Amino acid sequence: MLGGRDVRKQIVAYLNERHKKLTRINNDPTRIYTDEASQCTRLSYYERVDPINSNSVELFQFLLTHGMRHSFENVESEYKTDNLTLVLTADTILEKELVVRMQITDSLPSSPKPQDLLYINACLYAFDKAEGILIYVRGDGKTSEFLVAKSAKMFEELIRRARVLSTLLKEKRVPIVEPSESCMTCKYYGRCYMMERKETSFSIESLFGKSKDESA
Ligand code: SF4
Repeated sequence: MLGGRDVRKQIVAYLNERHKKLTRINNDPTRIYTDEASQCTRLSYYERVDPINSNSVELFQFLLTHGMRHSFENVESEYKTDNLTLVLTADTILEKELVVRMQITDSLPSSPKPQDLLYINACLYAFDKAEGILIYVRGDGKTSEFLVAKSAKMFEELIRRARVLSTLLKEKRVPIVEPSESCMTCKYYGRCYMMERKETSFSIESLFGKSKDESA
C-alpha cells in the first residue's frame, strides 16, 4: 500500500488493459494462431472463450516478448489447408533463407522446448524455407541457439492440433487437459485440477508398521 492506495493492484489492472489492447482478438475458429496450436490447446481455448486476468509475472513476460518481437521485422505469414488458416510470424529471415525465432526465458534450456520446435517448424513450411534458428535469450543477454531442420511429421502434428482446437471452438467444447510442467505456473490450474483438501489419518510411520500414537 502507498498513501492508502493499493498501487500494485492498480499496476496489474493497467497491465491487464494493455494486454487486452495488444493481444489480437480473434473470434474466427477457422483462423488459428500457431502458438494457440503449439501450446496447450485447453489454455488456448480458455484464452478465447472464457479468459481470466493474468498475474504480474505473466503480464511482464508478455510485454517483454511483445517489445522484443516488434524490434525485429516480425514477418507474418498464413498457411492455408482445407478450411483452416494457420497464422504465424518469424522475427526475421536472415539472407532470405534462415528463419529466426527468439524466446525470452528465465534459464537457458539444454534442448529446445517442444512447443517452440512446433512453432518454428510451421514457419519453415509457411515461408518455404529449409532451416530455422531458435534463439533463447535470458534477461542478462546470454543466449543459446538451436538450428532446426524441416520435419513433415512435426508439421502434421501441429496441423492436427490446430484442427482439434478449431473444431472444439466451433462446438464450444473444452479440450482435454494436457498435463505438463507448464501446468504448475498456468493461471487455469484451478480449472483443470480441482482438488478438495481433506484431513487424512495417513502417516509415513504407518507405512512401516508404526501407528501415529506409537511414534509420538
Ligand atoms: S493447467 Fe495445464 S492443462 Fe490446464 S490449461 Fe493450463 S497448461 Fe493446459
